[in-house]
Amino acid sequence: MPTLPAPVIPVQLLDLAAQHAPIQAEMEAALQGVLRAAAFIQGPAVGQFAQELSQYLGEAEVIPCGNGTDALQLALMSLRLPAGAEVIVPAFTYVATMEAVAILGLRPVCADVLPGTFGLDPAAVAAAITPRTGAIIAVHLFGQCADLGALTRLARQHQVALIEDNAQAIGATYQLADGPPAVAGTVGEVGTTSFFPSKNLGALGDGGALFTRDPARATYLRQLANHGQTRKYYHEHIGLNSRLDTLQAAVLRVKLRHLPAWTAARQQVAAYYDAALTELPGLRIPVRDPRSTHVFHQYTITVAPDRRDALQAYLREQGVPSVVYYPVPTHLQPAYQYLGYRAGQFPVAEQLCRTVLSLPIHPCLDQEQQQRVVEAVRAFSS
Ligand SMILES: *Cc1c(COP(=O)(O)O)cnc(C)c1O
Repeated sequence: MPTLPAPVIPVQLLDLAAQHAPIQAEMEAALQGVLRAAAFIQGPAVGQFAQELSQYLGEAEVIPCGNGTDALQLALMSLRLPAGAEVIVPAFTYVATMEAVAILGLRPVCADVLPGTFGLDPAAVAAAITPRTGAIIAVHLFGQCADLGALTRLARQHQVALIEDNAQAIGATYQLADGPPAVAGTVGEVGTTSFFPSKNLGALGDGGALFTRDPARATYLRQLANHGQTRKYYHEHIGLNSRLDTLQAAVLRVKLRHLPAWTAARQQVAAYYDAALTELPGLRIPVRDPRSTHVFHQYTITVAPDRRDALQAYLREQGVPSVVYYPVPTHLQPAYQYLGYRAGQFPVAEQLCRTVLSLPIHPCLDQEQQQRVVEAVRAFSS
């Protein structure tokens, strides 16, 4: 295989420095405002950010919290499920989706995903539902919605709650059978997101939020996220200390204004990759569900299992980083052995762990860097 000339500007998986450069002054001013006002916990920027994010999400209620994992835990707490209730989670996702279930003493029940979109397979979910099922957590993996149409129908039919883990798909929309496109994270009983720095809307540290269209649930979630208090020192519920820092909220207000442009830039990179990589033998570009937009948190290809690691090694040699999200399916993680799952039970998830590879995608990937990624992948594949 050819060795390509060294790229002029190194290709990075994530380039927060480049992304921040044009808004550095705005972010510094926002941070200084908080420093001067010295209201670090639940300062005004938290409520302002929640309001602005709510507008962006089509007026859903937004409840800021400490991080995306807490958001999942709070979402589950708000359902008041009995101890030991089952919660269906994808066998292919980031572990937090499952961790939040287990930490509450609920039982994670894995279900397989679809090979194209990587989202929960509705048929697998239907087969996993029992009288003990309390909720389904759909993950909009890599930036595209799971099959929200089928999953909402299933949840309604079986009277179980639908939680959307929207840590990777903020701003994506989904066309349900009727009505205008629905906003990811606002379709189920509760949606959750993360502002971990590498997410599409990232803070300068940890942060998260919940979404709901039910005002009563929003009130309950706000209390749960703040020690279960209804007013200061009156604790009606057992809650968490999970609040979004005012400093983070101030920065997120600045960054939210740029999110639509950043999303568009990610989609442009994806379109370029799609066109350049679509015909390559043994390689599949991301499958687009026509009902969903895709905000490309990741651009994830699949390649033959016996070629994947070699492709990754070749890309690395050519100065192109890539990542396997995720190498181990949730049901085979050592921490979850107690659930009694075996290899072979969720074949699609297991196969994806052997075949996926995420290529660099971020809003500041310039034309030359994109070309380098494409050339390296093509050089390996031809
Ligand atoms: C990042 C992520 C989380 C966890 O968010 P944190 O803010 O890191 O706790 C949960 N689910 C998915 C799908 C994620 O990508």
